[in-house]
Amino acid sequence: MEACETEEIIYIDECMKLALEQANLALNNLEVPVGCVIIEDEKVIAAGRNRTNETRNATRHAEMEAIDILLEQWQRNGLSKADIAKRFSKCTLYVTCEPCIMCAAALSILGIKEVYYGCANDKFGGCGSILALHTSESGGSTRDEVSQGRGFKCTGGIMAPEAISLFRSFYEQGNPNAPKPHRPLAPSI
Ligand SMILES: [Zn+2]
Repeated sequence: MEACETEEIIYIDECMKLALEQANLALNNLEVPVGCVIIEDEKVIAAGRNRTNETRNATRHAEMEAIDILLEQWQRNGLSKADIAKRFSKCTLYVTCEPCIMCAAALSILGIKEVYYGCANDKFGGCGSILALHTSESGGSTRDEVSQGRGFKCTGGIMAPEAISLFRSFYEQGNPNAPKPHRPLAPSI
């Protein structure tokens, strides 16, 4: 049993490393370094990185990039809304920083199965830090499944130091005169 759990932890870390590679790509492109991958049946089916500066669009977060790749592909392949919902319900997202409120709401509406994230997003986190959109009970009894989503299983703190260190590099390179932060920086996304 214990060996099995260890194997699972190694697998989660391997997936998060792929998300960190995406975050690193974002950093190299002078973007706030957040990256993600979406896994289905143990295969990476989409990857995304934050592209808010490049696109001059504040909503182009890593998660949205990855989600849009799948939506475009599945719609092109003629999948129905029900088929698309079924595919998302088998997908797991690995993202280097806690999804923001916008992304958490989108993931919940799409019905993603599970999310693993790195560091917390103290400013805009939608998976517990500010709002808890992943828990389907949080809206009370009037909660509407279509507008609020079904919620998803969510686990944070996966390789968080690596994710935070990318943010530090970003803020240090972006503003060389900035005073050294005395606490981990959350992304301003
Ligand atoms: Zn977001």
